[in-house]
Amino acid sequence: VNRSTLISIPTLVRVKPGALSRLGIYFQRAQHRRVLILASEGLPEEICNTARQSLQENQIEVVGWINIQDNSFERAALTFRDLPSKVDAVVGLGGGKALDVAKYIAFLARLPYYAVPSSLSNDGLCSPQSSLTIAGKRRSLSAALPHGVVIDVAVCLAAPRILWQSGVGDLAAKLTSVFDWKLAFHHKGEPVDDFAALLSDATVHQFMARPDFDLTGTSLLGTALLLNGVAMEICGSSRPASGSEHLISHALDSLSERPRLHGLQVGLAAYMVSQLQQQRTSEIAELFDRTDFWSTIASDPFSRREWLEAVRIAPTIKNDFFTVLSLRDCVPEIERIIDTDPRLAKCFHD
Ligand SMILES: [Zn+2]
Repeated sequence: VNRSTLISIPTLVRVKPGALSRLGIYFQRAQHRRVLILASEGLPEEICNTARQSLQENQIEVVGWINIQDNSFERAALTFRDLPSKVDAVVGLGGGKALDVAKYIAFLARLPYYAVPSSLSNDGLCSPQSSLTIAGKRRSLSAALPHGVVIDVAVCLAAPRILWQSGVGDLAAKLTSVFDWKLAFHHKGEPVDDFAALLSDATVHQFMARPDFDLTGTSLLGTALLLNGVAMEICGSSRPASGSEHLISHALDSLSERPRLHGLQVGLAAYMVSQLQQQRTSEIAELFDRTDFWSTIASDPFSRREWLEAVRIAPTIKNDFFTVLSLRDCVPEIERIIDTDPRLAKCFHD
């Protein structure tokens, strides 16, 4: 089977400063005259105004502007029910929750979806799943890749740096997830899609070569996160982007008193599981040195007790999902790593 007939990848991709002020031009070219905007609640006025002005200048009608506060499936279903008729495209503008809801609604309505992130805190901006909550529980629901991805690099660079660092953490997780995927092949015969694995790996290295908090670094980060979403679409699973480090983060989300940003959790978990996997540890360490990831974690340390519990239940989070955590009881090793690794000294409290 020729897989190019089975996947759909974004048609429009813009990763550059000032892209937001050209939004209307992109829709006009695509002949999307009536758009529905789902924007993050509390998004800076300046970002909303730039988008509105560009749409207005290009005679694009905004048939609805909905502020998204939470990413619950229940809320998304109501928004879908009340969808205005004659919408040409759905736009997610802002942070992860608005983008996840917009992506899912567009998928249900079979409408073109445009992702317009205001920060780069994780790889969800261009992934084939929507992360929503159902009855309060986090779920990954099937959706489609965006029709368009518009990353205004200047806007994303102006967002709080902790969001950028969270994106770096989610990207570092690709180094451990691809290894887990290969373990699953060797132990369970789970097929690895070589091209998806290669794409995932290559995008991380491109960013690692220049992981600076500036326009170029932000552009590389956005591109890498975006191409990772494409890697997931190519192989039809989250394997190239999500492995044992994501299981630990999901476990933390369910048991922690105060879960932190997704990318901070998976990044830190990736550093630790890389030691279980005995690969890539120094690369991840250096990446986090250069991006000041450690200081951000140290400014609000994690609970050592919660992490050990998360590592303990992580292998039970997903059925039939082989990772390094399936090989043996890893809790004692993680305990030793937390207690002896100098980089982790300030990352945990009791
Ligand atoms: Zn992730």
